[in-house]
Amino acid sequence: MKSPHLLLLMIVLSCAAGIAQTSTTPPSQLTVIRAGTLIDPRSDTPKHNQLIVVRGAKIEAVGDEATVKVPAGANVIDLSNTTVLPGMIESHTHLFLQGEDPAKGGYDIQLLKFYPSYRAARATVSARRTLEQGFTTVRDMESEGAGYGDVGLKRAIEEGYIPGPRIVTTTRGISITGGYPLEGYAPGVAVPKGVQIVDGPVEARKAAREQLDYGADWIKVYMTHRSWVDQDGNLVSQPTLTVEELKAIVDEVHGWGRKVACHAYSGEGLHRALDGGCDSIEHGLLLDDAAIAQMKKQGTWYCPTLTVYYTDWSPEDTPEGKRDRARVADHEVSFKKAMQAGLKIVFGTDVGGFPWTEPIAQEFNYMRKFGMSPMEAIRSATIRPAEMLGMQGKIGVIAPGAYADIIAVDGNPLNDINALGRVSFVMKGGNVAISKSVAFAAPSH
Ligand SMILES: [Zn+2]
Repeated sequence: MKSPHLLLLMIVLSCAAGIAQTSTTPPSQLTVIRAGTLIDPRSDTPKHNQLIVVRGAKIEAVGDEATVKVPAGANVIDLSNTTVLPGMIESHTHLFLQGEDPAKGGYDIQLLKFYPSYRAARATVSARRTLEQGFTTVRDMESEGAGYGDVGLKRAIEEGYIPGPRIVTTTRGISITGGYPLEGYAPGVAVPKGVQIVDGPVEARKAAREQLDYGADWIKVYMTHRSWVDQDGNLVSQPTLTVEELKAIVDEVHGWGRKVACHAYSGEGLHRALDGGCDSIEHGLLLDDAAIAQMKKQGTWYCPTLTVYYTDWSPEDTPEGKRDRARVADHEVSFKKAMQAGLKIVFGTDVGGFPWTEPIAQEFNYMRKFGMSPMEAIRSATIRPAEMLGMQGKIGVIAPGAYADIIAVDGNPLNDINALGRVSFVMKGGNVAISKSVAFAAPSH
């Protein structure tokens, strides 16, 4: 067992290197954070000059100097020139995807030519990138042909072998024959699919059982597939599973106490997703009034993933180019209507669909541009997804009893949303993961 002195030295040294090991936190480890400004998403107003006491992996106390004493022997981290927030939650990532740039071979090359070990190695980097940007939890929305890779990645992070966020896994994803890439190959050529293919309620239920058995925390279902602009200029999408097939999955998954996320763009597939009882709608590019009313009534979560639809547009005069432009036009209207109706919106980008070198926080800029207040945008990445994931009080808040998932940004995001892209400090579960120009007080023992 390491001595406390050595451990503290190791933490400081590894912080100097930029990224620390996210090893499991010793229960006795004691840290106090001085927060210049503290945003608690449960309240509309930020607080100033707050102390956060962290013991082991969790927050023990929060308050000002008058109410909270710095315990003897605590390592003090001075964040008094920054804004401190709970670690953020990204509700739609693909850790095993590396963008779909056609010039780099698009989606297909990743399934056809990347070795599983290469995909896992790069997913490790994606996980670190997520954490570096202040996202301490992700709901990873299927591995895109990398099987149960997310379950192994999650375990390696939890055991402290590699740095990364808490991962809510969905494993393989589910769609139907004719409902997912790879496609466009000659009929006799066997190619892998990016999801598990099912036809009929029996196969659908069996796939859900398998995925849950091998470690899926949620199940991801594709309720629409390809989209295009029809003769009248309307965006349409191909429905995939029947209501009967989806109901078999939802019934099974709910029985395990888990939830179902549905990729659904518009029209028939979107309505089947809602009739079948999906817990979250992913993308929802074209939410008609009936869909919004049903989501409101059923309490369905909405993860719009605005960012990904602004990447890789085809030329304007092609059918794909027309589709790309129709998607963002409809999406903006749907997002505004959803906000107006008070739907439960959660932050997600679909990163992995675009390269991991792009900033995740750009989603906040789109949300802001479409009229969401900075505080609501922060809530969409903290308390709201915490509730969706059944982890309210444990993540997405800075409060006694919660995991010490704490970040600091330069500037005040309530005045300038871009501040959420300037993350200078990340703590996950009581361990400092990232620290840029943070002053550490000398150990007082
Ligand atoms: Zn996705």
